[in-house]
Amino acid sequence: MTRPRPDGPDVLVVGAGPTGLALALQAAAHGARVEVVDSRDGTPRPSRALVLHPRTLELLAPLGATERLLAAGTTRVDAVLHARGRDVRVDLGDLPLPDTAHPWLLLLSQAAVEATLLGLLDERGVTVQWDTEVGDVGAGDVVGGDVRAGDVGAGDDGLQGRTVVRGRDGAVLGAARFVVGCDGAASRVRASAGIGFPGRDYRHPVVIADVDVAQPSGLSGAHVFAARDGIAFLFPLGEQAPWRLVVAGPAAGRPAGPRAGRATARTGPRAPHPPWPEPPSARELADLVRSMTDGAVTLGDVAWAELVPLRHHLARAYRRGSVLLAGDAVHVHSPAGAQGMNTGLQDACALGWRLALASTSPPGVSRLLDGYEQERRPVARLGIAWTSLAWWGESSADPVARVLRRVVVPAAAPTVAQHLDAVAPGVRVVTGLALSHRRPGFPLALRGPGPRAGSVHVGDRLPDLVLPPVPAEPPGTAEPLDGERASAPHRLYQLLDRTGHHLLLLGERAAAPPLPDAAPGLPEHWVHRVRLPAAHGGDDLARRLGTTCPAWCLVRPDQYVAAVGGG
Ligand SMILES: Cc1cc2nc3c(=O)[nH]c(=O)nc-3n(C[C@H](O)[C@H](O)[C@H](O)COP(=O)(O)OP(=O)(O)OC[C@H]3O[C@@H](n4cnc5c(N)ncnc54)[C@H](O)[C@@H]3O)c2cc1C
Repeated sequence: MTRPRPDGPDVLVVGAGPTGLALALQAAAHGARVEVVDSRDGTPRPSRALVLHPRTLELLAPLGATERLLAAGTTRVDAVLHARGRDVRVDLGDLPLPDTAHPWLLLLSQAAVEATLLGLLDERGVTVQWDTEVGDVGAGDVVGGDVRAGDVGAGDDGLQGRTVVRGRDGAVLGAARFVVGCDGAASRVRASAGIGFPGRDYRHPVVIADVDVAQPSGLSGAHVFAARDGIAFLFPLGEQAPWRLVVAGPAAGRPAGPRAGRATARTGPRAPHPPWPEPPSARELADLVRSMTDGAVTLGDVAWAELVPLRHHLARAYRRGSVLLAGDAVHVHSPAGAQGMNTGLQDACALGWRLALASTSPPGVSRLLDGYEQERRPVARLGIAWTSLAWWGESSADPVARVLRRVVVPAAAPTVAQHLDAVAPGVRVVTGLALSHRRPGFPLALRGPGPRAGSVHVGDRLPDLVLPPVPAEPPGTAEPLDGERASAPHRLYQLLDRTGHHLLLLGERAAAPPLPDAAPGLPEHWVHRVRLPAAHGGDDLARRLGTTCPAWCLVRPDQYVAAVGGG
């Protein structure tokens, strides 16, 4: 890294995994000066996550990422559940989620997600400084035009000065107004900010491997085998061989140690982990898969295999002064439900725009940043709870879990596959579509009248409505707006496809309110004014917001309703 400038960037992101890259992209796209450092050498690492959720795709769309991710991945995937000779097919490419443009699970490797985000960052002139390992963060002083580290540990406020990051050897690597630890579960940023990370180990590790499938030949789609001793997944997304194999449960490896599985609260930021056994050999893996699939699958070559310890932890705080945490640095849990990367990306999209806004020093910075934790901590807590339960069902040797996995779920699956609308509310919760931030007195840019009669309240995610065809607009009734489109949008979010806030003017006669009333603290250039004619969805949206045209609705960069007025 070059010698740090005293004026440094606004935001220094530690960690170029999916969370750090998305955060850097969102903050930079909203005008912050951003730098990213990572201890790796920049060579892609084996992917862990393989699935992107609808809400994640929505959040990344204004950054230009979603189109590229969709082009790189696949949504047309059948998943087949195999249990005790029964095969149940579920179409993951057509979920009953009418209020999103992405009613599917996108299969795409974590490496491809990272490559896409890196490409977008590069186009914005933000490059990652690889081979740069952060040892700690602390308050900084500017002495004679140079940045010097002060005491380690971020101050309580810390918003006025610079925060310094140092290498393992104590050398100052950089300084910024905000430092964000996106440096994964063993986060040094979290540790040096003195933020605890309590949690527990799961009893069993997971084996991940890239393999060839010898039999059956011509296998396609994604496959889940519910076995007596755990669960095995096969995804057509291997990186060093055609298939990615994931095996969980007692069969996957020895328990984590004598204390594993008990309530071993680990409050230390870098709690030692018991030694893990070697991953199974190719021969052992082939035997394991044959037994878990009741002989249905015979492995060919095993290109690579790894045994991954699993745990669930949640940091005691998301922020200390000007040091913030996101992604695995702040929460980790089992891979059940494909949550980890998605939650990290959604953290990033809740924080990046806030940091950019905070960098321009509007009043109430602290409240704006506190809102990040207020919104995201409950999501992590819920995620840990339900993924732990799901993981128990998938991997436990407990007789109840075995019956659930081998009997109950396969028996219910055909009916569920026929009536996916019955499970849609659950899908909305676990993918973040149902998330709402309704709360009175919410920090900056989430305000407005109390609950109205409509179904969409201040603090809710704006539904991505399908819009009726555009009517011809009576001449002279609407002032020209910066959101005017040459072609009529088909869905509401097409009107929200830029970074920043959007002020939707509902109806031909709706006038934009003075910005300080609608969005105190928001700079003028942050807000795009867009008109939605009454017959083109304006009436429908106003009704859902509990009002009538003419009205207005302010929408945050992460598509939550910030304020409503008029009517
Ligand atoms: C078996 C398995 C399967 C999974 N499947 C899924 C799935 O299907 N879907 C899903 O959403 N999630 C899944 N996950 C979880 C997902 O992989 C993680 O949640 C995700 O990688 C977290 O991203 P991150 O950017 O927060 O952290 P990481 O990916 O851990 O990135 C942290 C970055 O910080 C860097 N770094 C670390 N320390 C330092 C330092 N001191 N200085 C500088 N840089 C540093 C690292 O080099 C790394 O690049 C799975 C996890 C496992 C184990």
